[in-house]
Amino acid sequence: MRLSRYFLPLLKENPKEAEIVSHRLMLRAGMIRQQAAGIYTMLPLGKRVLDKVCAIIREEQDRSGAIEILMPTIQPADLWRESGRYDDYGKEMLRIVDRHERDMLYGPTNEEMVTDIFRSYVRSYKDLPLNLYHIQWKFRDEVRPRFGVMRGREFLMKDAYSFDLDYEGARAAYNRMFVAYLRTFDRCGLKSIPMRADTGPIGGDLSHEFIILADTGESEVFCDRAYLEMEVPGADVDFSNDDELAAIVGKWTTPYAATDEMHDEAVWSKTPEDARLSARGIEVGHIFHFGTKYSEPMGATVMGPDGKEHPVSMGSYGIGPTRLIAAIIEASHDDNGIIWPESVAPFGAGIINMKPGNADCDNWSEDLYTRLANAGVDPLLDDTDERAGAKFAAMDLIGLPWQIVIGPRGIGNGVVEVKNRRTGEKQELTPEAAVNLVA
Ligand code: ATP
Ligand code: MG
Ligand code: MG
Ligand code: MG
Repeated sequence: MRLSRYFLPLLKENPKEAEIVSHRLMLRAGMIRQQAAGIYTMLPLGKRVLDKVCAIIREEQDRSGAIEILMPTIQPADLWRESGRYDDYGKEMLRIVDRHERDMLYGPTNEEMVTDIFRSYVRSYKDLPLNLYHIQWKFRDEVRPRFGVMRGREFLMKDAYSFDLDYEGARAAYNRMFVAYLRTFDRCGLKSIPMRADTGPIGGDLSHEFIILADTGESEVFCDRAYLEMEVPGADVDFSNDDELAAIVGKWTTPYAATDEMHDEAVWSKTPEDARLSARGIEVGHIFHFGTKYSEPMGATVMGPDGKEHPVSMGSYGIGPTRLIAAIIEASHDDNGIIWPESVAPFGAGIINMKPGNADCDNWSEDLYTRLANAGVDPLLDDTDERAGAKFAAMDLIGLPWQIVIGPRGIGNGVVEVKNRRTGEKQELTPEAAVNLVA
């Protein structure tokens, strides 16, 4: 991409409405625009990051055996009357009446709809396990939308739903998602900590919130520092091996970790004093086993090996990709702007042409651009007439992992200057060496 032809509406001033750093930087870097309270457009730079994040989520969902579908945003109220949630959900639900006076709603989540899909097609335990997910916009009329896409009203969610014959199967499905979540957040460059979360009337211990520690987080959390050093399962983890997964989940749920709702001072006090970390955190994911809560009232049953009908045992598993972008920025920035982990960076490298119009600078820039593109780096070339200072500031702000500066002096010496955004380290390299370093 050439910046002269791109749409990157950077803001010079700090927007007054932004209270936290990720909101401020997303606005300043031209990633998002607010259209109404808690409702955002993803501008080109934001859309690129969102696509990267969703691609990682998708890969890890698929790897774990979940299957992608796409359910609509608008749902008929009748489905929610079946589960009893139409009245229970309250003011967070956006209710809509169509021209035929039918009650509809903008989905805040999809348990009812996916249960309806399941009951329409699946009859036998032999078709289980099944896990269906989608990545779709949700609407929740939050009382206090704030912090940009961190707490929006319209926001993107990956939500997966597992169906199993019995608790044992559901527990294995839960473990698969648990491990997929560890991998997903790790690949986004984040340290996530699975924390015991409230299971409400369902009971049991199968609910975890995946939390990113950050001072600006809305949750109060308590956890053992051991989590900060734990190694995340690699891509070779065998999702068909229930015992292997159970062992991983066992390891990741042994040290203390709970959100304030589940916090237990008596147990906490047994954690050695110097290992206790009480902090604030951002909920980026939530997995939950709820058994037959929907399958029973909605009649989602399968024939078991015993020849009898059984309501299926279900779980749901959410990640907020839009919130995740904000969490990544909260975890990775400095005074000059965002510092993207390579895996989710909107472009792999920025090239700064210091003198557009100068034949050498233009040729070198174009040549490097082609080489990087061929090496799969996806560069952003700043070929604008801005002054050098503004170009450097813009590159720092948008946080691409690498910056490559091309100017007449370097060209005279046969080199370009390569800067690592995270470390600030600069090196003078030949274009070949620069491509090798960055690619
Ligand atoms: P919160 O406690 O922050 O209100 P929640 O517990 O209501 O979140 P879930 O129903 O568990 O959210 O939804 C799954 C995921 O969707 C959350 O873990 C979060 O990543 C994301 N999410 C939920 N609400 C929002 C929101 N208002 N804006 C952005 N992302 C959200
Ligand atoms: Mg909520
Ligand atoms: Mg929550
Ligand atoms: Mg939650």
